[in-house]
Amino acid sequence: MDLLLQAADGALCLFKELTLRLLAFALAWLLAAPALAQGIQQTKGDFEDKFRQLDEVLPDPNVYRNASGAPGHQYWQQEADYRITARLDEDARRLTAQATITYTNNSPDTLPWIWMQLDQNVFRTDSMAELTNTFGGPGRRGPTVRAASGSEPAKLSLEELRRQQAMADNSYGYDITRVTLSNGRQLDHTIVGTLMRIDLPTPLRSGQSVSFNVDWAFNIVEENTIYARSGYEHFPDDPREGGNDIFLFAQWFPRMVAYSDYEGWHNKEFLGRGEFTLEFGDYDVTMTVPNDHIVSSTGVLANPNAVLTATQRQRLAAARNADEPMFIVTPEEAAANESSQPTGTKTWRYTARNVRDFAWATSRKFMWDAQGHKQPGAEFDTVMAMSFWPKEGGDLWRKYSTAAVVHTMEVYSRFSFDYPYPTAQSVNGPVGGMEYPMITFNGPRTNLNADGSRTYSESEKIFLIGVVIHEIGHIYFPMVVNSDERQWTWMDEGINSFLDSVAGYEWDPDIQWTRSLPRDLIPYMTSRNQVPIMTHSDSILNIGPNAYGKPSAAYHILRDTIIGRERFDFALKQYAQRWKYKRPTPADFFRTMEEASGTDLDWFWRGWFYTTDHVDISLDTIHKLRIDTEDPDIDLSRRRQDLADEPEKVGNRLNREQQLPIWVLENPGVTDFYDDNDRFTVTPKDTKKYEGFLEGLEDWERRVFDRAIEEDANYYVLNFSNKGGLVMPIILGLTFADGSYEKMMIPAEIWRRDARNVSKLLVYPKGKELASVVVDPEWETADADVNNNHYPRKIIESRIEAFKSPDPSSRAGRDLMAEVQVVEEQEAKDDQGSE
Ligand SMILES: [Zn+2]
Repeated sequence: MDLLLQAADGALCLFKELTLRLLAFALAWLLAAPALAQGIQQTKGDFEDKFRQLDEVLPDPNVYRNASGAPGHQYWQQEADYRITARLDEDARRLTAQATITYTNNSPDTLPWIWMQLDQNVFRTDSMAELTNTFGGPGRRGPTVRAASGSEPAKLSLEELRRQQAMADNSYGYDITRVTLSNGRQLDHTIVGTLMRIDLPTPLRSGQSVSFNVDWAFNIVEENTIYARSGYEHFPDDPREGGNDIFLFAQWFPRMVAYSDYEGWHNKEFLGRGEFTLEFGDYDVTMTVPNDHIVSSTGVLANPNAVLTATQRQRLAAARNADEPMFIVTPEEAAANESSQPTGTKTWRYTARNVRDFAWATSRKFMWDAQGHKQPGAEFDTVMAMSFWPKEGGDLWRKYSTAAVVHTMEVYSRFSFDYPYPTAQSVNGPVGGMEYPMITFNGPRTNLNADGSRTYSESEKIFLIGVVIHEIGHIYFPMVVNSDERQWTWMDEGINSFLDSVAGYEWDPDIQWTRSLPRDLIPYMTSRNQVPIMTHSDSILNIGPNAYGKPSAAYHILRDTIIGRERFDFALKQYAQRWKYKRPTPADFFRTMEEASGTDLDWFWRGWFYTTDHVDISLDTIHKLRIDTEDPDIDLSRRRQDLADEPEKVGNRLNREQQLPIWVLENPGVTDFYDDNDRFTVTPKDTKKYEGFLEGLEDWERRVFDRAIEEDANYYVLNFSNKGGLVMPIILGLTFADGSYEKMMIPAEIWRRDARNVSKLLVYPKGKELASVVVDPEWETADADVNNNHYPRKIIESRIEAFKSPDPSSRAGRDLMAEVQVVEEQEAKDDQGSE
């Protein structure tokens, strides 16, 4: 039935089908205008193939990355192992350190030099990041600088002024004091911004390793002033004389630049936004800090006997099997530390295997709790979930931080692999949220009230649970599925925002989690000022919705609407497991998701990741059609009834109401045959034609025709237009006159021959009448304008507020005479009072 009737709307007849199709084809041809497609030019017509395959855009598959999106049979990556000793000078807020780095060249190439990343140099006043920060531009997160607009003067926030003063007063960036081979031989090196080239005395051949030493020191930035991903935070009101600091150390040591099969050395300056492209390796790090500090770090504590009390070690052992978080350092002990003076230093040693980075935090303010998270059968069957926070974190942290760490591992492991490390930590500090292997920095806190109690807002609670889930989630993506953050923020942030929202809604569906569902992205996707997701991290405008929200929304749609949960979850897991401890590119992701789900998604990647189109499908009209019987006795009386059902001509009605005489009634002599037989009168010729039609049908045609006439089904033609540009499935909520409801999904491929307008025929048995239709009834596709989704259209309900007209605010509009007078009167009164 579908085959017979799926044509343009209008009167449908079995045998007009072919003619209509031909007409539609000719019309489309005539209306056409030129359009361009990748590499191929269509110079006639405006047809745009939204389903064109992506192969010609994606890099060619090769032996390192294959066409299915998996690592190729000759996949390789470099290894960088570090032994570091670091010493914190708390009073000077300076870190001094030495590293021995062993770099292994697993590439097939010979390397005459190697490159390192000197991220601290981003804080030098002559860094590319500082020099290219534009006034009033998107620039750094945090400080407000606004260019003049209209009558408003330019604005500079006090935070920005404080930052400028700190940059003027301090010398930031690395002091590299030694670069030598392990035998002590000096190595030539050249510093280029945040990068350093070290020339090797003999080229490093494939399969060889080189060990070398780097010594360095740097002044630690104040995070709240400089706006960095690490630094110190000062607490001047603490009971201890001079106050206290929390130190967060990240991007604190010279790290190897990644060398990959697709880019060679990743020589891309650190501009502050695009994060990190890193190699895996093993770490052995010692940190010497004041002896009343508690250190949280990537890795496992290798010398607990040297730094923890016997009681603390017992608590840590008990926490492994606890059902809820247990204190290792209690609030009382932290309070005592907070007001103490160190009597010397302690050296903490942490080791970590197969991590791509290393971060740590230290303060005498930290309390510390822990709970063992069990994952039977995993490489680490008990993971220590731990949190470190100062009193400012209060109950918010005690209740939610470590619990959220455990919840994250439960959800994320289901989608990827068992949590791959022995610890998972959440540390409170000045950084709003930032991730490193096994350790995350998270910002939310409580407010101190006048009576000394601490309370928090609902948004701070949502922020804490959400940010802990998000940052711990990053330990999977990109700390283990090691995508290139400097180039593609969306690769890790997109999957992570998607999974953190999955975990958030599984934590509590009643919480208003923000920014990750399709419906949250509509304002962004309809905004003018946006760039495609496939834009370099440092060039993105509005990085939150672009690199976090929009890809997350895309994955929710793939999972819940287009592919379905079972196949989507399988495909995502394949991606995670294929690229665990490896370096995937966008093409590897696109190809894996497509191959493992068995779905052609090129149209989806093309629309969502390579364009700024949005979703807006309009249901423009619905036509209800009834099949002609071709029997003149039936069809012509239907036509007669159709005419009778039309509204009376208004002039005729007014004439009637005025009781104007009608000529033919006044003059009976003028009537004839046509007064008794209208144009729908059946003639013998009509009957003969009908009989001829029936006789002309083949047997099978007659059977089909008779059945269609007998069933007398309801045919509805729904006409859709694509106003947003993105092709998407058409999801229909169908309500029938009998009160029943059906949901139906038409795959996006309906748009493959015409991405602007499509019609769809729906057929229901006689008696089943369609009452109303809504497109995307559950708001699952980010359809921007839901008002054109309803047929019939709906009245839009909203709210309106009464307001009082404001007083004039310009100086010329104010009554300055009166304002001066009031002050003079007050001064006169004050003078009298003092007499
Ligand atoms: Zn993130």
